Amino acid sequence: MIEILNPTELTRARNTGALVADILQTLKGRSTVGTSLLEIDRWAETMIVEAGAQSCYVDYEPSFGRGPFGHYICTAVNDAVLHGLPHDYMLADGDLLTLDLAVSKGGVAADSAISLIVGESRPPESVAMISATERALSAGIAAAGPGARIGDISHAIGSVLSEAGYPINTEFGGHGIGSTMHQDPHVPNTGRPGRGYKLRPGLLLALEPWVMADTAELVTDADGWTLRSATGCRTAHSEHTIAITNDGAEILTLPKQAQP
Ligand code: MG
Ligand code: MG
Repeated sequence: MIEILNPTELTRARNTGALVADILQTLKGRSTVGTSLLEIDRWAETMIVEAGAQSCYVDYEPSFGRGPFGHYICTAVNDAVLHGLPHDYMLADGDLLTLDLAVSKGGVAADSAISLIVGESRPPESVAMISATERALSAGIAAAGPGARIGDISHAIGSVLSEAGYPINTEFGGHGIGSTMHQDPHVPNTGRPGRGYKLRPGLLLALEPWVMADTAELVTDADGWTLRSATGCRTAHSEHTIAITNDGAEILTLPKQAQP
């Protein structure tokens, strides 16, 4: 099912998006050397509850995970890339951490992910990967103009990732979002321009380029949730929720300091 939001719902989506961006920025600032992933999860829980919002994750029980997720944020470190289950790992200098958060408020969900490097080290490979996913995300958003199709977004994202030299996995990608976190249409991270569903004003999409340094193959961790690179290489992931408008795409999960 593809949902098209009315103006009232779109206002709510903006509020939820701003909340997700705020929480992620706060958690980014707290993701320092020695912080445990479970602490980050507890901070996320507190902020979600205090905002009167609902976690999209805690009761989430999809086919690709083991039982309800049971946590409030996905935390993926180094070779972990998607659906990172928080555990008692303590962050170390140079770790590449991805925080992926989806919450619902006023009946509308928003979903965003950021990758960051913990501490003072700046491993060049990690810096390059994060930059590639952020540039791919920007290209995908720029392609989501009036009259565009899903394939235009996929092509824009995939072109940046391929030019940066990363293999692309097509099992997991972006998605429609609205009254629930995961909806149609699926937005693969590579594709052919001019193909697929034609964007309409009121459609919400979560675009989420992610890469692994030297493989497109994922393996599932023993925790039943966390997906890691099959080779143990590093990974990165960037995600925004956008609203399709008559003028183009509006980013709903942009941090305040990045707003024009
Ligand atoms: Mg997400
Ligand atoms: Mg998502």
